[in-house]
Amino acid sequence: MKTIKIQRLAFYGFFALLLGSIISGTMLIRLLLNYETIKEQQQSTKSSYEALSTFKYNTEHLLVTTNLLKDAQTWHSSFAIFKEHFTKLHQLEFANSDDLENLVDHIEQEMKTIDTQLKNPLFSDKNIMEKSLLRRLGEGLNTNETSLYYIAIRNLSNSIDFLQQYENFLLKELQYLDELNQKMGNEKLDGTKQMLIAVPLVAFFTTLLVGIILWYMIGKIELKLQNHSKTLDYIAHHDHLTKLANRAQFIEKLEKTLHEARLTKGLHVGLIFMDLDRFKEINDSFGHSVGDMVLCEIAKRLTECIPADCLISRLGGDEFTVIVQSYDNKPIEKIARSMVWVSQQPILVKETEIYLTCSIGISLFPLDANDAESMLRNADTAMYQAKDEGKNNFKFYNQAMTEASIAKVQMESHLRKAIEKGEFSLHYQPQIDIITGSIIGSEVLLRWRNETLGDVSPAIFIPLAEETTMIFSIGNWVLEEAFKQQAQWIQAGLHPGLIAINIASKQIYHTDLVSIITTLLQKYALDPHMIELEITERIIVENPTSAIHILNTLRTMGIRISIDDFGTGYSSLSYLKQLPIDKIKIDQSFIRGIPEQNDDAQIVSTIIHLAYGLGLSVIAEGVETQAQCEFLKASNCREIQGYLYSKPLSAKNFEQFLTHFTLQASEKPSRIFL
Ligand code: C2E
Ligand code: CA
Ligand code: CA
Repeated sequence: MKTIKIQRLAFYGFFALLLGSIISGTMLIRLLLNYETIKEQQQSTKSSYEALSTFKYNTEHLLVTTNLLKDAQTWHSSFAIFKEHFTKLHQLEFANSDDLENLVDHIEQEMKTIDTQLKNPLFSDKNIMEKSLLRRLGEGLNTNETSLYYIAIRNLSNSIDFLQQYENFLLKELQYLDELNQKMGNEKLDGTKQMLIAVPLVAFFTTLLVGIILWYMIGKIELKLQNHSKTLDYIAHHDHLTKLANRAQFIEKLEKTLHEARLTKGLHVGLIFMDLDRFKEINDSFGHSVGDMVLCEIAKRLTECIPADCLISRLGGDEFTVIVQSYDNKPIEKIARSMVWVSQQPILVKETEIYLTCSIGISLFPLDANDAESMLRNADTAMYQAKDEGKNNFKFYNQAMTEASIAKVQMESHLRKAIEKGEFSLHYQPQIDIITGSIIGSEVLLRWRNETLGDVSPAIFIPLAEETTMIFSIGNWVLEEAFKQQAQWIQAGLHPGLIAINIASKQIYHTDLVSIITTLLQKYALDPHMIELEITERIIVENPTSAIHILNTLRTMGIRISIDDFGTGYSSLSYLKQLPIDKIKIDQSFIRGIPEQNDDAQIVSTIIHLAYGLGLSVIAEGVETQAQCEFLKASNCREIQGYLYSKPLSAKNFEQFLTHFTLQASEKPSRIFL
């Protein structure tokens, strides 16, 4: 729309200029033509006057001529010239050119009279002889001359007198004509000059006006465009949800800040990289709109607690960054600390209190990195380290972290080939009923021996497998191997009890666990009651409805479910009540502190009570000492798993354990396979 208006205005401006030029040009041509006309009129007037003078002179000369016939001819022709000039003058359209016409008519009449006189036979050459008419009249008439001659001469003289009388009049008339001519010429010239000035002026002011309007409109449009581009710029540089800076702005700023720091001696740049812990769980359990609200609240808190000269950005998802310029690390650490603190504070969303934590990694310029990319990579590595070390914390980057992450990448590539290379095996850790002294069963624990890496703990490679999709094939391999082993033992007449298999959360949601287990049960002809699946509370929190549904299906098939690492996770007692589970496994971190540490002792007793209260059985894992065992026994926890009885054993060793294990009367375990 606006462009069209501008085009139209520009067209008007151009049109005004064109019109102005045409009018000015026309005026100029008119002025020149007028000038020519005036010159011509002046010339005509002048010629007329000269013709008149000649004519008058010739007329007077008639009286004094001695050659009347010849001079009469001259007189005639001078009249003709006079008339011709006057006719021309008359054609030039003077204001009172009628007067001129009358004048010529008069003279013409008078001329006719003179002509008639001259044709009088008295004025024949013979009569005039050698003397002029006037001289003859002055000298007195000759004797042979009659009074008729005298009268004729007088008549002629009178006519000439009459003609002479007109001379002054004519002169005046001509002067008048000349003045009039000049006046009109001047007027015309002035008018044209005025027009010549006026037209360009009008054209100039019209163009000026159009220009001003154009300028104003262009200004307005520019302003709009500027605002538009400002909006676009804002969108391009801000996160639409939290209104914080986005990744693009963050990168720009980081590069700029690093550049400044390179030029300023002693100036450090800290990049704080923050990632919310378990944010995915919040998104999955409360929905994305709540997740968004949480992110906005975190953004608000960060803005409030971080100095205004630091750029806070949201890189995407639940990742936030802060760029800090300082001359030492203290302010950077202080900001990181306050970020951890504000994230810990409960967030009230739709009357629900949500508890969050965050993990932070910090990298420093020039200590750790020299460019934006390495800064970001290092901060990210440090953040993962903070997560690995229990989350809800911050970590400064160090070189060892990069080495660790390189090692992780290498491990990942080895892990991918572990199944096909046959590097996995299963160990079985016995679970004992300390009251009856019988073996309840065993927990299946995966072992990985790689030729380059040696023995790798599942505590290290299982999370790695979970991060990637490798856990599916690994999990399936464990299930198949465990079922197969169980079937072999039963066929061999052994009584291995139930086998407890660890199940990662991804296995529940992203594989058809029910049909996999159904197939295996059929394939190895196993009683489902001999199978227990260990799941963590995390699985339930991630998607309670789906988890409850799957677990219910498994339980109706006869599979037993136990909650692993109980007490460490995102516990919710209200869920626990609804959960289709059989057993609670008290986490070894609580067992470690009993019986000495009062807190742990309290927690363990409470968990045992809780389990019985809900009609569940309970098992303690990581039991290493007799004292721990005593405490558990006194607290009515009869199922025990731990080094006190046995470390996880190879299948072969577990077979031996099955045949040889007896609980001594003194309740001292027989540590035969330690
Ligand atoms: P978890 O399920 O809590 O397994 C118990 C861990 O505690 C095992 O470590 C076991 O060796 C160790 N343990 C048993 N008794 C004692 C004790 O008295 N003292 C101490 N200090 N430790 C004891 P492991 O075998 O290294 O496994 C670590 C974790 O790896 C397991 O923790 C489990 O979460 C995971 N994992 C192991 N195998 C599998 C598997 O097949 N699938 C899945 N998804 N995870 C597995
Ligand atoms: Ca376990
Ligand atoms: Ca455990």
